[in-house]
Amino acid sequence: MKRLRYWSVENARWLRRVYQIIESALVFLHPLFKRIGYPRLDRGFAALEKLVKGLLFDSQSCGQCTLGETGMACPMNCPKTLRNGPCGGVRSNGNCEVDPNMVCVWVTSWEGSKRVGDLESTIQVIQAPVDVRLKGTSAWLRAVRKKLSASSGESL
Ligand code: SF4
Repeated sequence: MKRLRYWSVENARWLRRVYQIIESALVFLHPLFKRIGYPRLDRGFAALEKLVKGLLFDSQSCGQCTLGETGMACPMNCPKTLRNGPCGGVRSNGNCEVDPNMVCVWVTSWEGSKRVGDLESTIQVIQAPVDVRLKGTSAWLRAVRKKLSASSGESL
């Protein structure tokens, strides 16, 4: 729902904070997750994420969430699925060249990043190309393992 998607960008600052709190809680729960086994948890988390992020952000469940770094605007709503800024076709009113009824994802991302107030840790972060094999998997659990791997050097 586009209206809710735009609302989320307008409220990017506190929504991102909530997002970071959830991530910290999940990192805390890592020993438990490891014991159960991440593959066994993936489907349940992916379903929960689809529900929550689908409602608030029109998330396309790519499995490699960038919301915290794109002003809470999901780049997968860009018809060209661009993950590092706009194409050259943004209309003069800020709308998308492919879907004129939609504000360009990167215009909303810019607005959301300004609301977060930290461009260096948001829109200036270079995103890796999307890996379509991860679609439908849990981005939250992946983020936990990535964070822990980065701090421990251990592959999780
Ligand atoms: S105008 Fe924006 S949303 Fe539309 S295709 Fe280009 S980058 Fe994507």
